[in-house]
Amino acid sequence: MVVASLIERKRDGGALTAGEWAALIEAFAADRVPRYQMAAMLMAILWRGLAPAELQAMTDAMLNSGARLDFSGLDRPVVDKHSTGGVGDKTSLILAPLVACCGVAVPMMSGRGLGHTGGTVDKLESIPGFRTGLSLDETRAQVERIGVAMLSQTPEIAPADRKLYALRDVTATVESIPLICASIMSKKLAEGLGGLVLDVKTGSGAFLPSIDDGLELARTMIRVGEGHGCRTVALLTAMDRPLGRAMGHALEIEESLQALEGKGPDDLVTVTMALAVEMLLMAGVADTAVRAREQLDRAIESGQALARFREVIEAQGGDAAIVDDPSRLPQAGAVELFHAPEDGIVQTVLPRVLGRAIIALGGGREEVGDAIDPAVGFVVTVKPGDRVRRGQPVGSVFAADQAGITLGQDALAEAIRVGPNMPHDVRPLVSHRVSPGGVEELA
Ligand code: URA
Repeated sequence: MVVASLIERKRDGGALTAGEWAALIEAFAADRVPRYQMAAMLMAILWRGLAPAELQAMTDAMLNSGARLDFSGLDRPVVDKHSTGGVGDKTSLILAPLVACCGVAVPMMSGRGLGHTGGTVDKLESIPGFRTGLSLDETRAQVERIGVAMLSQTPEIAPADRKLYALRDVTATVESIPLICASIMSKKLAEGLGGLVLDVKTGSGAFLPSIDDGLELARTMIRVGEGHGCRTVALLTAMDRPLGRAMGHALEIEESLQALEGKGPDDLVTVTMALAVEMLLMAGVADTAVRAREQLDRAIESGQALARFREVIEAQGGDAAIVDDPSRLPQAGAVELFHAPEDGIVQTVLPRVLGRAIIALGGGREEVGDAIDPAVGFVVTVKPGDRVRRGQPVGSVFAADQAGITLGQDALAEAIRVGPNMPHDVRPLVSHRVSPGGVEELA
């Protein structure tokens, strides 16, 4: 295999055979293809795309680069959820213990930060001691015991995706339908799931902002999932503003605890519940959306969902005392309020600006392997359409020092725009449901 010729062919709009994809991915996973060549190939894919047969072959090669979880014999249905990535998106942290309380096994395998978006694994690791690197045996044992595990992609699962994901994060090659699809589906199919619910973000903070691209990504992932015998459904949800109020790892853990106590912000609860309802329906533990929602509400109101999250933290070596005392989470060295610049109506809270600022504050990676500061981030208490008065506190910056505060204040000033009129282009929180049967417009 001459890798440069494969890159050249893809660069010029040609297709690779299934055998070539298998050989290339296998060699890359085994460190026999240098990262600079794979980076060039990723950029060629981003520009040229992949034909359906190529996407199938690349996904299979990534899936086959590692082992698979096997939940056969488990007494419960196994369903997971995956998001295409957003800012302030902490739904996984809430969903996994919540859905597990309703009789569904959830082996929640997540990623680290990618581009301007935060990763669930980085958020979990802001809990002192929390170990996300579970082996496959540990994962299965924990799912059997408490119905849920929250782990990073183990070295055994889709190792090719693990390497590609880190490379895409630092080479501006995230925004590609086939690359996102192959990445998500290779690791999700390795989880041994009976069903998968996808949260496809749209809006300026999504990797693929347009509804049309979101629908195409959803259909593409559904095709790949169903082709592997995994029932797959997608919801398109809004990422034209951050989800919830908190952005940043430890801050998002704290907001997730509030949501598990029934005190989460409305937008976060709406999106989380919509996804959770789909998971319960797919698992067959509820027969209507109304009944599914009742079960979920009961799990929150009874305290079971929060208790299950505590069990997960304990099982994975974390400091479970953060559940009662979130001040045990990493704390920022400096915190400062941000005030509305004028009277008027909030036009935007731009997630991409805030996501990038979190990286600049030290909360994300600029290069593969960079350490991150889990305490930095933002809390923004307003949404587009809210009326504000000049000088009203509408957010806070959490930074390591005064330089970070200045950077954060500038980012909030850029992200939060105030104007005289109602913004007319705010996306519905949950806009479409996509299933193998077609697309349903929900709003
Ligand atoms: N999440 C993933 O796991 N991979 C992507 O490419 C994007 C979001």
